[in-house]
Amino acid sequence: MRKETDVIICGGGPAGLLTAALAARGGLEVVVLEEHERVGVPAHCAGILGWRCWESLPYRPREAVVEETREISFIFPEDKVDLTMKKPAVIVNRAVFDAKLAEEALRQGAEVVTEARALGGRELGDGVKVCVKLREGVVFIRGKYLVGADGARSIIRKMVGERMSFDIGVQLIHSRKGCSSLEVYFTPPLPPGYFGWRIPFGELEKIGVVAPLHRGRLLWKFSEKVFTIGEISHIEGGLIPRRLVRKMARGRVALVGDSAGQVKPISRGGIFLGSAGAITLSEALLAGEKLETYEKRWRRRFLMELEAGLALRRILESLSWHDLRKVFSMASSCLREHPIEVDLDGQASFIFNSTRTCLPSIARDLRLAAQLIKGLGTAVLGGVLLELAAPYGSSSLGHRYCYADK
Ligand SMILES: Cc1cc2nc3c(=O)[nH]c(=O)nc-3n(C[C@H](O)[C@H](O)[C@H](O)COP(=O)(O)OP(=O)(O)OC[C@H]3O[C@@H](n4cnc5c(N)ncnc54)[C@H](O)[C@@H]3O)c2cc1C
Repeated sequence: MRKETDVIICGGGPAGLLTAALAARGGLEVVVLEEHERVGVPAHCAGILGWRCWESLPYRPREAVVEETREISFIFPEDKVDLTMKKPAVIVNRAVFDAKLAEEALRQGAEVVTEARALGGRELGDGVKVCVKLREGVVFIRGKYLVGADGARSIIRKMVGERMSFDIGVQLIHSRKGCSSLEVYFTPPLPPGYFGWRIPFGELEKIGVVAPLHRGRLLWKFSEKVFTIGEISHIEGGLIPRRLVRKMARGRVALVGDSAGQVKPISRGGIFLGSAGAITLSEALLAGEKLETYEKRWRRRFLMELEAGLALRRILESLSWHDLRKVFSMASSCLREHPIEVDLDGQASFIFNSTRTCLPSIARDLRLAAQLIKGLGTAVLGGVLLELAAPYGSSSLGHRYCYADK
């Protein structure tokens, strides 16, 4: 492993590998540190990428695509609605997807070091220094910039004093295939605001849930209640950030992907926003700009969508299943009458469009309308409180490092 480089990227997932490939393609020296033996393993992802996400990727490893579908069904407690997407979404095998991105990063000249766990780092006057645990021992590497692409549990995020709250995503892969397109379940036993999925995966099928942290066991209740499970070949899961960090870039350190909380608030998918983060960050690195410009550009592009998505999620989370049943049954009858295209990467606008379609029916039920207005109030108040709490949310210790300077 090089001991000096331009960019040190901690984490060999899609966000880190895309940043590495693009920065190396532009002529920067890049080292990617990945703690696992193999890039992409263990995988913890359903692998659903909307067409917008797929088309925006600078590298599209077709070998990783297992399924393509334009159909998506939303299943509610008493109803089901089948909709289509403008273009097919793809379902990728994340292990293959990440491995192909790593190949691309290598081809562009980046160094990808596996079994290299970053233990911590610090910013020096004119660069950064990272402490790395390799198989043969602990070493230090110096660079001009440090990128924290180390996922939901990021230590680089902790290093810059940012905090995060989480949901959990868990899924099983089993042999009894019963679907051929995407199925999304907004049904009990999952709490309001959370959901389950069932998707085809070659000869197999994936069933999963996003649940509140510590309630990953809901996967069993959900899957046993709704489906007949075949032979389970695999169970996987991971933390899912619930919000964006307050600051993605500070001095010579930037966060990208899950470590920055670049995750869609409704579906919790992170590959679209994380790869957009990688593209924007690599542009700033190549232009030699302050890393804060990466953050500004990324926020300018996605903040409205994220804020709208967060407000909608707070509304969903504030309603009871009693009220949600009514909302969903109205929504499904309206959407059946006036079907609209689903956009997996523009979820807030999709939900706003469907809400607009359903407004006349909702307005007829005064109690429900009052509940929704109350939910909206809670969402707005929640947003304001979060903003007010911002200075306390991120540690006031600022740049606190994980090891003593040596
Ligand atoms: C069950 C589940 C299903 C999901 N389904 C979807 C989906 O269908 N579509 C979608 O878009 N998103 C989905 N997501 C979210 C998606 O998996 C993440 O948003 C995405 O993987 C984030 O990419 P990343 O590169 O930021 O982080 P990661 O993919 O988590 O990569 C981070 C990498 O950093 C490495 N690392 C961590 N710490 C260190 C360290 N200290 N030193 C060195 N290396 C380190 C890790 O080993 C890992 O390889 C799902 C998540 C879960 C849990």
